[in-house]
Amino acid sequence: MEKIPNLDDNNEWFTEATLPYSDPVLRISSKISDVIYDQKSDFGHVQIFDTPFYGRMLTLDGIIQVAEKDEFIYHEMMITLPAIKHGNPKNILIIGGGDGGAVKQALRIKSVQKIVMVEIDQSVIDTCQTFIPSIADGALDDPRVEIIIQDGKDYIENSTEQFDLIAMDLTDPIPGGPAADLYEESFYAQVKERLSEDGFLSTHCSSLVIQPEEAKTMIPRLKNVFRNVSLHTAVIPTYQLTSFGFLIANDTSKTMSDEDIDRGFSNISGESKYLSKDMFYASSAVPPYLGIQ
Ligand code: SAM
Repeated sequence: MEKIPNLDDNNEWFTEATLPYSDPVLRISSKISDVIYDQKSDFGHVQIFDTPFYGRMLTLDGIIQVAEKDEFIYHEMMITLPAIKHGNPKNILIIGGGDGGAVKQALRIKSVQKIVMVEIDQSVIDTCQTFIPSIADGALDDPRVEIIIQDGKDYIENSTEQFDLIAMDLTDPIPGGPAADLYEESFYAQVKERLSEDGFLSTHCSSLVIQPEEAKTMIPRLKNVFRNVSLHTAVIPTYQLTSFGFLIANDTSKTMSDEDIDRGFSNISGESKYLSKDMFYASSAVPPYLGIQ
């Protein structure tokens, strides 16, 4: 039997590669019911598996990116939450996000006129569109969406456009990996230049339980650049079954009232499956034992 990378000898169990900032004594495994896709791209190893627990799942270089079971939690936290805080975003930049789930959420924002997605790897888009289309659900074909195949770092360096929300839906900051530079303070400073006056940056800082050092590293970097930085959490089974961190940053001196948040909610069409008002407010609570905020 041909041995498939990241699976056991019988090709029955996937074990996730060691994550950046994590302790290598822990590995997360999931039973596989089928191998749907297994190819190298110019940027990494792209695999799609069917799993009994997570549904269909995309991995890059052995790290889980997205799964059918709970992609809505991650994408609502990454896109819908900062959109609610902003209240009226008109144009959104998504860096990465090749699976299309972030664009799908961005299209639910009533005020949105334009979404630019800058993804480095065309093959992630193509593979997801072919084998796991439920994640984008047709969103990438919407006329408001422009897709640019480019390194997000180069795009930010060379663009002059302003955005109300810039979401960094990226792979982890693996040293030497394609996304590593996009978690640096110098990059956050460049992103700030591309934000409109009340614009938000949104990014993730991984499992707060397994990789707490990632949040502890990213928060000060963002605070050195932005006036306001807030940590939000959600339990997303796909990401190591623990609390997963999202960081929202902006530079406004305005304070936000509950009425502003209500207005932000009314700017979202349809029902959110995760972000009820209770979950929105609860998402900023972080247990003290983590020592993060
Ligand atoms: N939800 C995921 C997570 O939490 O890790 C992110 C999923 S999305 C598929 C990540 C995407 O970021 C990949 O498609 C990858 O090709 C893209 N990416 C990585 N580095 C990039 C860069 N420098 N510029 C643009 N896209 C990048």
